[in-house]
Amino acid sequence: MWSRLRAPGGVLLVCAMLVGCGGKQPGAPAAGRPGASAMPSGTLTTDGGSGLSAAQLARIPHFPARPAPKPVTVPAGSSAGWYSAIPTDQPVAFITIDDGWTRVPQALPLLQAAHVPVTLFLEINAIKADPGYFTRLEQAGAVIEAHTISHPELKGKSYAVQKHEICGSADQLATLYGRRPVLFRPPFGDKDATTLSVVHECGMKAAFFWRETTDKGIVRYQTGQTVKPGDILLMHFRPAFVDDFLAVLQAIANAGLTPALLEDYIA
Ligand SMILES: [Zn+2]
Repeated sequence: MWSRLRAPGGVLLVCAMLVGCGGKQPGAPAAGRPGASAMPSGTLTTDGGSGLSAAQLARIPHFPARPAPKPVTVPAGSSAGWYSAIPTDQPVAFITIDDGWTRVPQALPLLQAAHVPVTLFLEINAIKADPGYFTRLEQAGAVIEAHTISHPELKGKSYAVQKHEICGSADQLATLYGRRPVLFRPPFGDKDATTLSVVHECGMKAAFFWRETTDKGIVRYQTGQTVKPGDILLMHFRPAFVDDFLAVLQAIANAGLTPALLEDYIA
């Protein structure tokens, strides 16, 4: 069955060797590019070789238009802002995707089909084998931000160690992608006062925790059982990327919200 997945360059064949790449229903390629709701759910076809099944494409919600963003102003001073959610009553939520170790080929067509903004907090060590993968996501609307070089626990570390990890990752991402990050996520969501001071010193405006986490297609809530306006949702580049991303989209849609770009909400 995998022979059908052998795309030019063998990109999708690599997927076949991984554990669960999300698209587990390969079939005859669909003619043309179907709209997300144009094909019946469960049809065993793929989207022109993208590796996404029509059933997966049909799970992409239709969101209302995004409102004009009303950014929050980061508190003045020598420390970066720190947020688990953006304080807003606008009907928006924010999708963030961390690390970069597992790079499923379906992420690009999924992002293109969903047509929603996302923020990627990338770890240098996780992406350096294939930085071009994220260039393609960037071209589909993702914005790349910093998440350290080697993903250490920062809390309690010296100023020098934190500066190397935080400024160093921003420097390298600027070189790789031609844009210097303005936002930061500490590994494990752990930080101390030194972290926020160094993030500011390295030229970034804010650092982020989250309100929801996502794994194996399930969204888990820190508080309550629904996404609230301004919430920041966390997921990772993992083998279940497609299921995780679809679960995040559905959770936001179920709450009557629409995905917005985190960078647009930090002044
Ligand atoms: Zn991480």
